[in-house]
Amino acid sequence: MSTPGILYIVATPIGNLEDLTFRAVRILKEVDLIAAEDTRHTRKLLTYLGISKPLTSYFDHNKTLKGEYILERLRNGLSVALVTDAGTPCISDPGYQLVRSAVSERIAVVPIPGACAAIAALSASGLPTDSFVFLGFLPNRPGKRRECISAFQGEKRLIVLYEAPGRLMATLGDIRELLGERTVVVARELTKMHEEFARGAVSEVIDAFTGRQVKGEVVILVSPGSDELQVETVRVESLLEKYLLDGTLSLKDAVRFVVAETGLQRSEVYAAALRIKESQSG
Ligand code: SAM
Repeated sequence: MSTPGILYIVATPIGNLEDLTFRAVRILKEVDLIAAEDTRHTRKLLTYLGISKPLTSYFDHNKTLKGEYILERLRNGLSVALVTDAGTPCISDPGYQLVRSAVSERIAVVPIPGACAAIAALSASGLPTDSFVFLGFLPNRPGKRRECISAFQGEKRLIVLYEAPGRLMATLGDIRELLGERTVVVARELTKMHEEFARGAVSEVIDAFTGRQVKGEVVILVSPGSDELQVETVRVESLLEKYLLDGTLSLKDAVRFVVAETGLQRSEVYAAALRIKESQSG
């Protein structure tokens, strides 16, 4: 039996082709086979680099069949590089099952690190990066998305999200309503010609994008709620509960009173009131 080959997990650029490492180029030149999310896309990169190698596809819908094909080659001693369209494979991209299978067969898996949109966005965000939680893409369905955001109401770490440009505004709106007036950073078109960072309170960032057709790729970073904000949230909730449990005030009036008492934004208080109402009825 031959010694198994090595599976290399190779990060490729997220826009700017100069972000490919020397090591990545060498590995792409040396391997026997390159497994790519989209072979046409990767062929362009290889042509730019002057590399000619056998390519095979590996993406979400063929991962079981192709995973076996790739593993068979690894078992026979061939080395394989896995790449995706942009950034680091396995990070909101295909690759996890292949790596898991390789690990379970004791085939060596070697990361070739490089660009990753989440890390690039974090590094230039100006937000505290000591601890963060990466959510990748939220579910497609609006109800599920909101549920997912709500689950992070008490989250003390910075939240990192990938988002489609067409849904940016809706997601920022949900963040404002469900998490409150947090500081957010939207990192758009990282490493590309139209790279942009929109920073500020979520309402300011919503204003900045209002009336624009948002194009390209975006990462959303949501700063942790401050302790002060959390204390405020607890105060708002207990005031609201008092008014709502009383039963004599409508939701709208209860919100009006609490806004007047706390000086907080109406949208924030309203979102808290809806949560309380829902928990009371459910
Ligand atoms: N594996 C990739 C990585 O390491 O970042 C992520 C792939 S995921 C399918 C694509 C998402 O990553 C995009 O929808 C966007 O949220 C984010 N992304 C990728 N490239 C980006 C860029 N140049 N600028 C901003 N966001 C980017």
